[in-house]
Amino acid sequence: MTGLLTQAEGGPVAIENADAKGEFLFVCEHASRRLPERLGTLGLSEEALESHIAWDPGALAVCRFLAKRLDATLVHQRFSRLVYDCNRPPESDAATPVVSEVYEVPGNRMMSAAERRARVDEIYLPFKEAVSQLISDRRASGRRPVLVTMHSFTPVYFGEPRSVEIGILHDADSRLADRMLAAAAVGDVGYDIRRNEPYGPADGVTHSLIEYGIRFGVPNVMIEIRNDLIRNEIGQRVVADYLEGLLTTGVAALPAK
Ligand SMILES: [Zn+2]
Repeated sequence: MTGLLTQAEGGPVAIENADAKGEFLFVCEHASRRLPERLGTLGLSEEALESHIAWDPGALAVCRFLAKRLDATLVHQRFSRLVYDCNRPPESDAATPVVSEVYEVPGNRMMSAAERRARVDEIYLPFKEAVSQLISDRRASGRRPVLVTMHSFTPVYFGEPRSVEIGILHDADSRLADRMLAAAAVGDVGYDIRRNEPYGPADGVTHSLIEYGIRFGVPNVMIEIRNDLIRNEIGQRVVADYLEGLLTTGVAALPAK
C-alpha cells in the first residue's frame, strides 16, 4: 500500500480562473503547508510546519491579487513542498528534502523507495501534467502564454539577514526578466530588487522555468518576494500592485510574436 492521498483530501492541483483571457499564467508550487494525513507530521514540530520550510508564506495571496488584476489563470499545489517540492525534478534529492535549512525532516529520511515513488506519482506528475496542458492548449489556440512562477523567501537564512527584497530570476531565457529589471531601474520605488537573488539557476530553483517556459518557448520569469513584505493583506496588495506594473511593462517590451 503506497497510496498517499485519500479520496477526501482531493487532488494535488488547484486551478483558478481557468478561462482567463489574459496572457499571464501564474504558477505557485509552494502555496500550501498542508500535509497529507497519511504522513502525519513528518516528525516535525508545529513551529517547523508553520515556517517557510513548509511553504512560501504570502506567495499564493500575491498570485491571487495579480491573477484577478491581469485576468490570468493561476495554478497552485495543494500540498506542502516538504511532501514533494514541485520546483524540483524527481531525480533531485531536494524534491523530498531530508534537511531543510536548519530543520531535519525525519519523515523524509525514513521514506522507502515505494513511498517516494507515490509522492512523485501523486503530487508532482499531476501538477506537471496540468501546467503543461494549460500551456499547450493556449499555444494550440494561437495564444502566447507568459509564465510567472511566484515564491517568497525568509528574511533570515541560517542566521543571516537578507537585504534583497524582490528577486527577478531566470535561467537561459532572460527575455522577460531583463525587461522587468529595466522597468524596475526607472524611478525610485524603494525596493531592493536584484537579478537571480537570493537564489539562481545554480541553486536548482529554475526547474519550472525550464519545464514549462523554456521547453515550450514561452517567455518566463520567477519572482521571489521577501516574506516579511507580504505578511498581511496590505503588504500583499502593495507588492502585487508593484509587480503588476513590472510584469505589464516587461511584456509590452517583448517583441510581438
Ligand atoms: Zn518557493
